[in-house]
Amino acid sequence: MTNNTCPVCQRAQWSATTQSCSDYLTQHSFQVQACQCGGCYHTEVPEETDTDYYGTAYYNSDKGKFSPLVEQIFRWNHRRNADFFYTHFSPRKVLEIGCGRAYILQALKAKGCEVYCVESSQAAEWILANSTVVGLDDAQLAKFPQQSFDLIIIWHVLEHLPDPVSSLQRAHHLLTEQGNLCISVPNRSSFQARLTQCCWFHLDVPRHLFHFTREGLQQMLMAQGYEVTAVRSGGILQNLYGWWQSLANLFTPKTPNVLYRFLQGGNAWRNNLQYRALIIQILSAVIWLPVGLLGYILEEITGNYGTVTMFARKRGE
Ligand SMILES: [Zn+2]
Repeated sequence: MTNNTCPVCQRAQWSATTQSCSDYLTQHSFQVQACQCGGCYHTEVPEETDTDYYGTAYYNSDKGKFSPLVEQIFRWNHRRNADFFYTHFSPRKVLEIGCGRAYILQALKAKGCEVYCVESSQAAEWILANSTVVGLDDAQLAKFPQQSFDLIIIWHVLEHLPDPVSSLQRAHHLLTEQGNLCISVPNRSSFQARLTQCCWFHLDVPRHLFHFTREGLQQMLMAQGYEVTAVRSGGILQNLYGWWQSLANLFTPKTPNVLYRFLQGGNAWRNNLQYRALIIQILSAVIWLPVGLLGYILEEITGNYGTVTMFARKRGE
């Protein structure tokens, strides 16, 4: 069901040379193609598939995506993001497209914002049912008038969408003139991605349908009528762990992310125990811990972050 057009350059000029990368949850292989514009990569997913690539292994359990301690860190990180948004933008009405467990929105709501979420994934139904935020489906969102929101967040979601361009267009319609759009995505042009290729932690095929470079994302935003006001690191948690897990994957390329699944605990780990690969990934930490730290520092210094966050506003006429 993926759109075959590059969301950055709007052409279909995917390279013939492909990489075959495997899904850490199902071990299915997927071809990843590069667009000739250099701004975007694309995961080829067969149109006919019976496999639910999200499902319980991805969302793990109704208690959280991770084991309790890691879930708390994850939640703390989202509260920090919410603090940042509140301090810098003082939003009144916030929409998050793809809110996951809605930790950002819950924190913004506690500060007095009016918050809404679109989350179409069936696996996330319980999240909306158990959360205090207002969940909307596409039809409900379509009823909101133009310029309804002064902050729209798309946090590690754009890469999952079959048609990212239409989501940016919809956000453009719903954003106030002075409103802010905030997008965070993995950066395919980061050093960690280019060094580790299919072993890159943030590749996450086939759930990530598009893989944007930093320049590609910026170009796409400009093409959809935005001006980028700031580019920041996607955060230490995502970027440093991205390095560590990607390097650890190089030691067990056939069973990537095994350490991540162990940290997740719950269904993701129990359904597919791989102790041998886990031990290899843990023992190789003597190498990937220091190397990953250096890589992380290099990315922060050069601005070539493993995950990148962009802030944008509607461009004036
Ligand atoms: Zn392109």
